[in-house]
Amino acid sequence: MDMQDREFTIIGAGIGGLAAATALAQKGARVRVFEQAEALGEVGAGLQISPNGVVVLKALGLREAAAKLANTPEAVVLRDYRGAEVVRLPMGATAEARYGQPYWQFHRADLLKVLEEGALRAGAELVFNHRLSGISASESKVQLEFTNGQALRTPCLIGADGVRSTLRGLALDGEPARFTGQVAWRGLVPSAQLPDGLFENAAQVFMGKGRHFVAYPLRGGSLINFVAVEERQGWADMGWNLPGRVDELRNAFKGFAAPVQVLLEAVEETFLWGLFNHPVLPRWSRGRVVLLGDACHPMLPFLAQGAVMGLEDAYVLAGALARADGIENGLQAYEKIRKPRATRVQKAAARNAWSYHLRNPLFRSAAHKLLGMVPGGALMRQFDYLYGHDVTAGE
Ligand SMILES: Cc1cc2nc3c(=O)[nH]c(=O)nc-3n(C[C@H](O)[C@H](O)[C@H](O)COP(=O)(O)OP(=O)(O)OC[C@H]3O[C@@H](n4cnc5c(N)ncnc54)[C@H](O)[C@@H]3O)c2cc1C
Repeated sequence: MDMQDREFTIIGAGIGGLAAATALAQKGARVRVFEQAEALGEVGAGLQISPNGVVVLKALGLREAAAKLANTPEAVVLRDYRGAEVVRLPMGATAEARYGQPYWQFHRADLLKVLEEGALRAGAELVFNHRLSGISASESKVQLEFTNGQALRTPCLIGADGVRSTLRGLALDGEPARFTGQVAWRGLVPSAQLPDGLFENAAQVFMGKGRHFVAYPLRGGSLINFVAVEERQGWADMGWNLPGRVDELRNAFKGFAAPVQVLLEAVEETFLWGLFNHPVLPRWSRGRVVLLGDACHPMLPFLAQGAVMGLEDAYVLAGALARADGIENGLQAYEKIRKPRATRVQKAAARNAWSYHLRNPLFRSAAHKLLGMVPGGALMRQFDYLYGHDVTAGE
């Protein structure tokens, strides 16, 4: 399909939506992104982007800009909640040599900025303060309505509106997102407020009963990012991220290793996220409407792949549309390529939720011992299908 001056409308200016806007606009299409927020802003939080996501940034011409803002950890280290090392996966130069691209960590706002600039440079238009509320589709157009009363028609609508997607329900009869029984506190602490060398340059995961704690440095080590996940019975549905109570966070991770305690003492502000999921969608597109990223296949954060899958989706979608002989065929080709991989990664992330949170102390200690005995090479090989995948190859 000749993409020159073809029109695409994207709902949601998150990682997936901005990457799709960049990829489509770079092919010559006219792209408009509608975002409900009044500007791109992010609560303080980190994001790990593995080599399979970095390869997409490279193909979009954003690698250099991203490299300036990225932290490259030397390792991913799994620990018992008291701090004993269970397993160490080398990252840094080892990951780059193995997968051709580095494993990076960003402040979310930094990565969003890089993608926003990429989308604008490619000619995409970003429109804020527009919350999608309704659609009606004919054979050749989709009519959109926004809560501010605006309406428009588009030949192709792409839903990148996240795990609580409106479009999923409107176009694909998708059920509302459900609370998974897990919450995550997230936050950032300036390293200047912590003792020197408290955390090495690594992603560290401390695994305990029904909870785990992740810490890694950002922005040249000037910040330490944390994600603290706890299993919970309920979630008052007032939104999906709320200001969290620091005393509650400290309490939940009492008994964890000394560096975690020191970090928690220094926390001044935290946000609490309910982790949501929704049943697998039988199909990702209907007619001229398609979904990508969390709207389509939300990932629990236990494999750090949700945003990365959004990057992969975006790149594949633009390529599939450019190769197809019509919009609907392009959307179906995209789904055919992406669904098996996204489903596999979704399942792997859900499995990690179980193995990070083992409840029985004896079983946990035996499982950690076994994991520690797996040779490093065999452990790395488990991730080859994930980190070594290159959706840009052959494009
Ligand atoms: C604790 C935690 C840690 C994580 N860590 C990682 C990690 O290290 N690595 C990783 O790859 N992933 C990670 N993830 C997952 C990642 O954050 C998500 O998978 C990713 O942000 C999804 O991107 P998206 O573009 O699909 O959706 P989102 O980022 O959710 O963006 C959706 C956008 O759509 C907008 N929107 C929603 N509804 C409407 C509407 N009706 N109209 C207009 N706009 C709308 C929203 O305002 C938002 O801007 C983590 C998630 C959590 C909760």
